[in-house]
Amino acid sequence: MAVANLDKARTTTVPLFIGGKFVESISGKTFENFNPATNELIAHIAEASADDVDRAAKAGRQAFESGPWPRMSAGDRSRVLRRLADVMESNKQELARLESIDTGKPVSESLNGDVPRAIFYFRLFADYLTTHSTECFPMDGQALNYVLREPLGVAGLITPWNFPLMILCSKLAPALAAGNTVVAKPAEWTPMTAARLAELIAESGLPDGVFNLVHGFGPRAAGEAITTHPEVNAISFTGETSTGQAIMAAASRTLKRVSFELGGKGATLVFADANLDDAVGVAALAAFKNQGQVCTAGSRILVEEAIYEEFLEAIVAKAKAIKVGDPLNPETEMGALVHAEHRARVQTYLDYAKSTGVRILCGGNSPAGAPSSNFLEPTVIAEPDANAKLCQEEIFGPLVTVTPFKSEDEAVAIANGTKYGLACTICSGNVSRAHRVAARLRSGTVWINAWSIRDPRVPFGGYKSSGIGREGGLHSLDFFTEAKTVCVKL
Ligand code: NAD
Repeated sequence: MAVANLDKARTTTVPLFIGGKFVESISGKTFENFNPATNELIAHIAEASADDVDRAAKAGRQAFESGPWPRMSAGDRSRVLRRLADVMESNKQELARLESIDTGKPVSESLNGDVPRAIFYFRLFADYLTTHSTECFPMDGQALNYVLREPLGVAGLITPWNFPLMILCSKLAPALAAGNTVVAKPAEWTPMTAARLAELIAESGLPDGVFNLVHGFGPRAAGEAITTHPEVNAISFTGETSTGQAIMAAASRTLKRVSFELGGKGATLVFADANLDDAVGVAALAAFKNQGQVCTAGSRILVEEAIYEEFLEAIVAKAKAIKVGDPLNPETEMGALVHAEHRARVQTYLDYAKSTGVRILCGGNSPAGAPSSNFLEPTVIAEPDANAKLCQEEIFGPLVTVTPFKSEDEAVAIANGTKYGLACTICSGNVSRAHRVAARLRSGTVWINAWSIRDPRVPFGGYKSSGIGREGGLHSLDFFTEAKTVCVKL
C-alpha cells in the first residue's frame, strides 16, 4: 500500500478506507501533506467530502446491523483486538517514524510514548472484554435487576494533530471493544499513522465496514459531515474548544451523544518548599514536551515570590539545554511545530509579547541552522500579570509564562482563573499542602511533583471549557455503550 512506502506515497494517493476497501474520494480530490521539519511533501491524501462520509457511515451502519462484529462473543472480539495490537507491535518502529515525519515530534517520543501507548489501548480494552462484569441488584427476593451494556451503533471519532495515533487509538479501542462500528477522521495535518493503521486493521481480521477512515477537513467538509450524519450515533472528539462548540451545535440536530476533550491552559504551581531542581525539571517538561503542543501542558508556571528570581534563572538554564533539532535524530528532545500555519500562529503571540515589553528571558526565535522555520526555541517569559493575554489563551507552542504569587490562596485563584480546567501540577515538599491545593483546583487532572504520567484507566477530561465527559477505562466503555436495565420479578 501507499503509506507503508513513503517514497511511493509521494507519487500515489493515500486512500480512504471504507467498507473494508481502500478507495479514492468520490470527487477524486486530494490534498497535500507536508513534513513540518523540512516543509517537504510527504504525500497526496484523498480528500473526503460529505458524499464519502455518507458512504463510510452507511458501511458502518450495515456492518453494525448485519455484520458479525456486534454479535461476536466478547472472547472473539478480544482476540481480534489483541491481534491488532500484535500487528501494530511488529510495525512499531515504522509507525513511530511515520508519526515523527508527519508531526515533527522527536522519534524517541513516538517510539517510547505515543506508539506503545496506542498499542496498549487495544490490549487494555481486550482485557476488559474478558474480565469486566456489569451491575446486578437483587431486591430482597422480590426481583432481580441487572444491566446489559450494548453497543451504540456507529461512532464518529474526530481527532487532533498533536498525538495523532495515540488519541485515535484511545477512542478506537473502547469503541470497537464495545461492539460499535466506527467512522474516524484524523486531523488534516497528520493523517499518516491513521492511514497506516487502516492497513494494519485490514491485516488483522476486523470485519469489513467496522473501521472506516476518511481524510479531510473540518468545517463544511468531512468533519462536519460526520457530526450531522443521521447514521452516526455518537461523536468522540478531541480538539479545540471552539471546534467542540461547533460540533455540539451541529450534532444537536440529530441528538448525538458527545464526548469532548478540549483545550487547556494548565498551571504548574511551584511552592517555596519544593525541591527546586525537581520542580524545574517537572515545569520544563510540562511546558516544552511535544513542542508545547499538549492539551495538558503547564503553559503557565506560578512560582512563590520568595524563590521567583532563583526559579527563573534555573528554568532558563533548563530551557537552553533542551536539544532542538531533527525529529528523526534519536538524541533530539524538541522537534518542529506541526505546520507552518501553526508556527505562524505561535509567532503572533511572540510578536505580541515583544510589543508589550514583557521580559522574554530566553528563546523566541527559530534556532539557527534548523532545516525549516517551523522550529522554535523553548521560550520563557516573565509575566507578572496573571490576567494578561499570554496567561489566558491557549498558545500551543513551546512558550511558557512565569508569574509570581504571594500565598497559597493566591496561587489557587490564579490557577483557577482561566476559562479552562484540564490539568494542573503542584510542586511542593509539603504533603498536606499538596493534597489541600489539589482539592481546590478546578481541574480534571492534578499531578503532584510529576507531570503527564497517568494510568489509562483513570478518568481523563476537563472542567469548564476543557471538555464534556471523561475518557479512560470504564469511563470510555460507558460512553460507547447503551446501558439497558433488565428487571425480573422473582
Ligand atoms: P481542531 O479542533 O482544530 O481539530 C481537531 C479535529 O477536528 C480535526 O480532525 C479537524 O479537522 C476537526 N474539525 C475542525 N472543525 C470541525 C468541525 N466544524 N466539525 C467537525 N470536525 C472539525 O484541533 P487541533 O488544532 O487539531 O488540535 C489542537 C487542539 O486540541 C488544542 O486546543 C488542544 O488543547 C486540543 N487537545 C485536547 C486534548 C484533550 O484531551 N483535552 C488532547 C489533545 C489536543
